[in-house]
Amino acid sequence: MSIRDEILRLKAEKNAIIMAHNYQRPEVQDIADFLGDSFALARKAIETDADVIVFCGVDFMAEAAAILNPDKIVVHANGESRCPMAAMVDLEKLREMKKEYPNAKVVAYVNTTAKTKAESDVCCTSANAVRIVERIDSNEVIFMPDRHLREYVQSQVPDKKVILWPGYCYAHEEITPKLITNLKKAHPKAEVMIHPECSMETIALADHVFSTGGMVRYAGESEAKEFIVGTEEGMAYRLKTLYPEKTFYPVEQSICHNMKRIHLEDVLRALETLEPVVKVPEDIAERAKKPLELMLELGRSD
Ligand code: SF4
Repeated sequence: MSIRDEILRLKAEKNAIIMAHNYQRPEVQDIADFLGDSFALARKAIETDADVIVFCGVDFMAEAAAILNPDKIVVHANGESRCPMAAMVDLEKLREMKKEYPNAKVVAYVNTTAKTKAESDVCCTSANAVRIVERIDSNEVIFMPDRHLREYVQSQVPDKKVILWPGYCYAHEEITPKLITNLKKAHPKAEVMIHPECSMETIALADHVFSTGGMVRYAGESEAKEFIVGTEEGMAYRLKTLYPEKTFYPVEQSICHNMKRIHLEDVLRALETLEPVVKVPEDIAERAKKPLELMLELGRSD
């Protein structure tokens, strides 16, 4: 039996669902029941009636699924798949910052650990960050941990003070203005979609600034036939699969090696052993759930 068939057999036997982020390897994307960005995955996690969620994404995403689904078994396909940006938050420094800005609300990008979320007022993803900062009932926010997303949000919500935390995503920092300019020269008819974790200099070259979920929607709706995909390279595979009649040019230098730690063998092992189960201590989970739920409420479009 092929590894793929064995995964499908075990999935049915254990009433499991495989959820995967858009940056996963093509073979992992192909086996997933649900693919999406962090926001879509968080929403889907609460809708599923499966008993087991096998999560193919980095640690904070699996944690969020576990927090939102205390009654389900959430298994991380590879416990070593961790987001370095989420690890750029020092909780002591955050507490000091909260004292320094007593009126500020803490907006934690979903790319944070459960412990960071537990210290925050609301979460956001790249899909809803602007909307969340607009809607949160405070004129000052501490926005963490991505400095580029903070700068983009500040440019879109100029009436509020959006305070910097100096984290970054190495995969998106690889997407330099020079690389995008070269791609534009090579493909002059292509529309340029850029993720807001990129620098403002790179964003300045974009026709559209989108989360990966936004890219999926827009590429389907647009009349354009060619797109430059300014985010982690796995996204281009997702778009090609969805819209085979269109052409997508990835930035090949942008690779999240942490996402790519998950292979089909890991998915199979996770289904066989139901390990490692993602466990968030109850008190942390309870506190981290509130900003996640507030995100789901504030982040809805009208
Ligand atoms: S792409 Fe960047 S933010 Fe996303 S998991 Fe990888 S390092 Fe973290």
